[in-house]
Formats: sequence, C-alpha cells, structure tokens
Amino acid sequence: MTKDALIIGGGIAGPVTAMALRKAGLGVRLFEAYDRGSDGIGAFLTLAENGLEALRVLDLRDLVMDLGMDTPEGVIVNAKGRELATVGQPSRTLRRGDLYGVLRDEAVRRGVVVEYGKRLTDAVVSSGGVRAEFADGTTADGALLIGADGLRSRTRQLIDPGAPRPRHLGLLNTGGFAEGVKVPGRPGVSYFVFGSRCFFGYLIHPDGGVWWFANPASPKEPTAADLAAVTPAMLLDLFRNDAGPMRDIIAATPNMLPAWNTYDLPTVPTWSNSRMVIVGDAAHATSPSSGQGASMAIEDAVVLARCLRDREAPEAFAVYERLRRGRVERVVAQGKRNGDGKAPGPFGAFVRDLFLPVVLRQVAKRGALSWMFDHRIDWNEQV
Ligand SMILES: Cc1cc2nc3c(=O)[nH]c(=O)nc-3n(C[C@H](O)[C@H](O)[C@H](O)COP(=O)(O)OP(=O)(O)OC[C@H]3O[C@@H](n4cnc5c(N)ncnc54)[C@H](O)[C@@H]3O)c2cc1C
Repeated sequence: MTKDALIIGGGIAGPVTAMALRKAGLGVRLFEAYDRGSDGIGAFLTLAENGLEALRVLDLRDLVMDLGMDTPEGVIVNAKGRELATVGQPSRTLRRGDLYGVLRDEAVRRGVVVEYGKRLTDAVVSSGGVRAEFADGTTADGALLIGADGLRSRTRQLIDPGAPRPRHLGLLNTGGFAEGVKVPGRPGVSYFVFGSRCFFGYLIHPDGGVWWFANPASPKEPTAADLAAVTPAMLLDLFRNDAGPMRDIIAATPNMLPAWNTYDLPTVPTWSNSRMVIVGDAAHATSPSSGQGASMAIEDAVVLARCLRDREAPEAFAVYERLRRGRVERVVAQGKRNGDGKAPGPFGAFVRDLFLPVVLRQVAKRGALSWMFDHRIDWNEQV
C-alpha cells in the first residue's frame, strides 16, 4: 500500500491541500468527479485578505493577483439609491472558474497527479490505510483520505452517515457579467443594494465590464422549476420600483447565470475518523454572504498540512479540528446573519435603513471584523 494521501475533490480546498501536503513532505493523489472541461465560467467569488495571506504561505498569492480585481471596500445602498454606509472588506474578487483553473494547473506543475472522472462512492478503512472506491469501478489505496468534495460531500457521509444535511438559507443566487453599460460608481468598489424586493450586488471591473449578482428571496427550498423561473424578466420586475442601475445591468448581460440555491452547514459534529478527514465546504459550507467560503477552504488546507507535518493521524486530525472548528463556525454564523439582512420585509427594511449606518460606523470603529480578516497562519509554528 502506498503512503500517499488521497484527496477527493479538485475545487479550491483539494488542489490547495495537495500543494500544502507536498510542502509538508507528504505524497498526494487528487481525484475529481468531473472532467476538466466542466470548469465553465460560472460565477465570481471573493478571496478575503485572510485567504490571500493563507495562499502566500504556499507561494500562491501572486498567482491570483493576475486574476479579477482588488475589492477593498463595499458601499451599502438602499432602494432609494441612498448610500447608507461604506465598509472595509480587504479582498480580491475573481471568477470561480479562473481560480479553479490556476490552482489545478499550479498543483500539476508542482507534481500533483490529478485524475478526472473519478467520483468517490465508498471508502474502506483498514489498519494499514484506506481504499477509495470510485463510480467507474476503479479503486485507489492510500495512507489517508481527505474529503475536499464540497457541500454535498460523500466523504462526510462516509465518516458519519448521520451527518447533517445542508441548511437552506432562504435566498437564491444568480448573476452575470454585463457589457457596454455605464453605471455610477468607482471600479473595484462592491455596491450592495438593498432593493425593496431583492438584494443586488455589483462591481465595475477596471476594463469597464460590470460583475453582478442578485439574491431573490425563497422562503421554501426551491424546486428545479422555481430555479428555472428566475429569468432576466423576473429580475427586471423585482427591481421595477427601485432607484439604481440594476435594470440597466441586467439588460446588458448577454447570458445570465442559471439560478442556484444557497445553503450552509452550521455544525458538522464529526470531521474525521482514524484515516479520513474533511476540509472546506465539506466540513463547514458558509453562505456566499460571508464572502469567506473559499478563504476558509484555503486556511483549512494550510492548517491540516501543518498538523500532518507534525503529528500522525488520527491525532493530527484532532488537532486540526481543535484549531479550526471555532473559527469556521463563527464565520458560518456571520454569513447567516449577513444573508438574513437581505430579505427583511418592509418593516425590517425601514429599521435597517435607520440603524445600519450607525451600527456600521461602530463596527468600523471597533474593528469588529478584524477577527475574520486579520487572521494569519504561521507555517513554521509547531502544532
Ligand atoms: C455561486 C457561489 C458564489 C460564492 N461566492 C463566494 C464568495 O464570494 N466568497 C467565498 O469565499 N466563497 C464563495 N462561495 C463559496 C466557495 O465557492 C466555496 O466555499 C469554495 O468553493 C469551497 O471550496 P471546496 O473546495 O471546499 O468546495 P468546491 O469548490 O465545491 O469543490 C468541491 C469539488 O469536489 C468535487 N466532488 C464532489 N463530490 C465528489 C466526489 N464524490 N468524488 C470526487 N470529487 C467530488 C466537485 O466536483 C468539486 O470540484 C460561493 C459559492 C457559490 C456556489
């Protein structure tokens, strides 16, 4: 049996974990369910300063600085077009597909073997290691198995068949990339508009394009038909009575992204067994409203590698969980709060517009989110 760690999932956590484990001196193999071609263009996401700094530990920060744009602050606007507050959110915003692509390419360049079309179906732990079984009938043997297989993680289920299901958050997501439209605002600033019936966010790329997303409310978990009903026409109607450039942006978007539902995982009680462990969304998916999902996945990867450098599994897994659980669950809770504010109803919107500027000024003064953005991981510190 080889001593490699088998990493399941080639999203964000997977390739970064692979590179971190190699830096820690372990051999790795990476398995991704889909073909390389399915990366697609997809939506965009934010890498917060803490995530960028975790990438720096692995000499990966410069790689992403060529993608997307710097997004150091956000401006919060109400349905009448009034600016309520400006908040610092040190980060870089980039297309998901671009991030996946550069991380995988760099992992391969550093010697990681990536196998596509390998969907994990089962895993059998023995005293000598773990055997992964894939949907195509093949198997792989390793010393450890690391589940970086996202929100619907099979690894999570294999570790604990009673693991919680993802929680529906009451917001749908769609968006796109508008072209040839002039909108008010400064490039690189994130504008968050609390529309009267729907939340909207947009950024002006320095090249002139406008990146945007919208979060129609969905109190019930949506069916496929509900998702298909989220069309440009539906969104144009939701913003009919609001001030702001939302309708112009939607109209200038050649291909709006098909809507998807948003979920989180507030607490996954069991992260590991003797040979298997989960990282990233598999362990603690957070609402996109936190802007931290990708950054948490990257931090996990670096911390897990330090633990496996300094300890043997399963002790290494226990230390990894001790170092990570409190922080990631706090981020998930913060993301839920951010998302809940997006669909407050008319009375809630009135109260929000009244108090938000004051609250956000206090938040900025006290550095209330510094725990999130200022977190740094010291690679050289022994665990
Ligand atoms: C639309 C959207 C917007 C987002 N916006 C933000 C944002 O602004 N900021 C932010 O930080 N985060 C954001 N996120 C969250 C962020 O994308 C995730 O937190 C991040 O991708 C987590 O990385 P991961 O590697 O854990 O999971 P994923 O990126 O989901 O990767 C999991 C990988 O595992 C593969 N896989 C799944 N099952 C199997 C299996 N059985 N066998 C083999 N492979 C498997 C999948 O194909 C996938 O490639 C957003 C998410 C979405 C969906």
